Amino acid sequence: MRQPLVAGNWKMNGSSDSIGALLDGIKAGMGGIHTAEMAVCPPFVYLPQVAAQLAGTAIGLGAQDVSDRESGAFTGEVAANMLTDIGCKYVIVGHSERRSLYGESDDFTAAKFAAARKAGLVPILCVGELLEEREQGITEQVVARQLDAVIALEGVGAVGGAVIAYEPVWAIGTGKTATPEQAQEVHAFIRGRLAALDAAVAERVQILYGGSMNPGNAAQLLAMPDIDGGLIGGASLKPADFLAIGMAANT
Ligand code: PEP
Repeated sequence: MRQPLVAGNWKMNGSSDSIGALLDGIKAGMGGIHTAEMAVCPPFVYLPQVAAQLAGTAIGLGAQDVSDRESGAFTGEVAANMLTDIGCKYVIVGHSERRSLYGESDDFTAAKFAAARKAGLVPILCVGELLEEREQGITEQVVARQLDAVIALEGVGAVGGAVIAYEPVWAIGTGKTATPEQAQEVHAFIRGRLAALDAAVAERVQILYGGSMNPGNAAQLLAMPDIDGGLIGGASLKPADFLAIGMAANT
């Protein structure tokens, strides 16, 4: 059985004070979470503060991005081993905001994935189609291309040590959620593509859904056989909502 993972992507939000309060709220409600692993991904500068606040809890820590390089003259970059050094377990790579707003390609994302794995981090690899790609009927082609770039560089075995997040871009931050059936279809496609290469990897990899997941739709999404949790944006900034999504994964 795959353990559900509910990870909050806080994006570029918060301050020391607000993040402190957000975490206090999440920690206070963790008694209601029985099945899922919960994780939070704050902005880089708040990672040490959050790591300290999470000490002794079961909540995982993740970063939102990572450099493809190991160290050296790369102004503004943050290396994967710096993230492990301060206690990160996860790092998001290939979020659609990185891909579309900052032009990060499939190959660049794959290089970040490789750097993260090398440092011992668990990459959360985001894949997903744009609205026009869904309308053109090429969702599976797009997701396969994004996934295959990582497999080509790192091999399918590396995907077994990672998490995949299927995030239809048209559902991110828009309030439009994929229906459970639409999401399940793509999750099953991803798992099937992996199974064709390595059945054990396909069986164990957690595939999260992301895109306007909230307390009202989480239970139906999480009930789908190939949806193993959620990558949560907006709702992860509200302790009650984030916890409710975690509780929706209780068994
Ligand atoms: C995200 O950005 O990863 C995301 C899923 O955002 P939201 O939940 O706000 O749609």
